[in-house]
Amino acid sequence: MNLIFEESRAGRGCTILPACDVPETALPQQFARKAPLRLPQLSENDLSRHYSALAKRSFGVNDGFYPLGSCTMKYNPKINEEMAALPGFTEIHPLQPAHTAQGCLKVLHLAEKFLCEITGMDEMVFQPAAGAHGEYTGLLLIKAWHHSRGDQKRTKIIVPDSAHGTNPASAAMAGYTIVNIPSGPDGCVDLEALKKAVGDDTAGLMLTNPNTLGLFDKNILQITQIVHEAGGLCFYDGANLNAVVGVARPGDMGFDVIHLNLHKTFSTPHGGGGPGGAAVGCKSSLAPFLPVPRVAEHDGKFYLDDNRPQSIGSVKSFYGNFLVIVRALTYLLTLGKEGVPQVAENAVLNANYLMALLKKRYQVAYDVPCMHEFVLSLQDLKDSCGVTAMDVAKSMQDLEMHPPTMYFPLIVHEALMIEPTETESKETLDRAAEALLELYEKALANPEAMHRAPERRVIGRPDEVEAARHPVVKYEYDS
Ligand SMILES: *Cc1c(COP(=O)(O)O)cnc(C)c1O
Repeated sequence: MNLIFEESRAGRGCTILPACDVPETALPQQFARKAPLRLPQLSENDLSRHYSALAKRSFGVNDGFYPLGSCTMKYNPKINEEMAALPGFTEIHPLQPAHTAQGCLKVLHLAEKFLCEITGMDEMVFQPAAGAHGEYTGLLLIKAWHHSRGDQKRTKIIVPDSAHGTNPASAAMAGYTIVNIPSGPDGCVDLEALKKAVGDDTAGLMLTNPNTLGLFDKNILQITQIVHEAGGLCFYDGANLNAVVGVARPGDMGFDVIHLNLHKTFSTPHGGGGPGGAAVGCKSSLAPFLPVPRVAEHDGKFYLDDNRPQSIGSVKSFYGNFLVIVRALTYLLTLGKEGVPQVAENAVLNANYLMALLKKRYQVAYDVPCMHEFVLSLQDLKDSCGVTAMDVAKSMQDLEMHPPTMYFPLIVHEALMIEPTETESKETLDRAAEALLELYEKALANPEAMHRAPERRVIGRPDEVEAARHPVVKYEYDS
């Protein structure tokens, strides 16, 4: 398929601008372009076909089952889009005086209030653009808190080996040294290893609970206590809150700082590159360090407060990706207090149901009831017939399903991490299980065919190493 620039023919187009009704003025020479702006020139028909063809080549939540573990590819209700498209939200300017943007400020204020209640935090901001950015922001809060107490010696962040890859990366970005601790045989934090790792150089711990194996750490209160007793703080990676939203609160588990991915649990479409959004929440002791400006309320009027001398400053312009927050608030208001816990209950039910069906053939990495996701290990299958997790994932593409997350978490060999989410019906789960069980038989009977998959997709198996080693990120024009 050609790029839109390759489809371009000089002189074609589909814009008809109204006649100019103001005097024309020449731009100062130093601001004028040296060459004409290179824009594709296409008829409306060709333009429309180009984008329809692109849309047919992609696979999204609207196309079929999308069990990408840790990523929460749930269905995003269309009412969210309708609200995010309201002119009152789209046609504002971030520099508008606060008294002319009261509705928008109220959105931020309400979203903060609800999400604080859901997580057990005292204050929250929405500036970061995505999850990893939220982690980084949270770590800067932890750093600012230690420094405000004159404690400069805490240079280490403890990260369990089941953590999402962004955790150690964000900690390194924030200037910390990472201390990796192993999981115990049950997939949870090894308490003895944690006790050995903490000390007076511990700035904090980063933890996901339930972890990336889909397991809720039953020792969570002890874990946060061990870190607190050593003088450290606890950061909750709540990128994916689907298993506990409305049911259990990180604040009650002993966490001091959290981040949430609004584009996962709180229903903003993602996977195509954004925009996303992260909420960063904290207990009141850390609130003075939150990024500015903060939305505040006085006598029923909202205003922006940037009089916070201890703030770490801004981590992104203005208030973050505002329309992502509009979607999250719409989602919460639609579900209501009763609906929010049902999200978690059904997410956990769906995951356990699918796991039970797949267990007939596949090996579950940790064979205990899971939370919102579970991990299979295909090591046995690979040993017996040479078919890998990659082969099974690629074969799923021919069956109109998106593959699960592969080869993650790193502590499980030949891992497939499956997160069905609460928005799938029993029939969809039954069909997916049947298809995966058939793939298992096919792998044993005809491994060669599995190595060739996918056979019905435009692109089969791109060379991932080549793309990482020699990325081509810029199009070279002929002229
Ligand atoms: C997705 C995810 C992240 C990273 O979020 P991004 O928005 O992709 O930066 C971090 N931790 C966990 C557990 C996640 O699932």
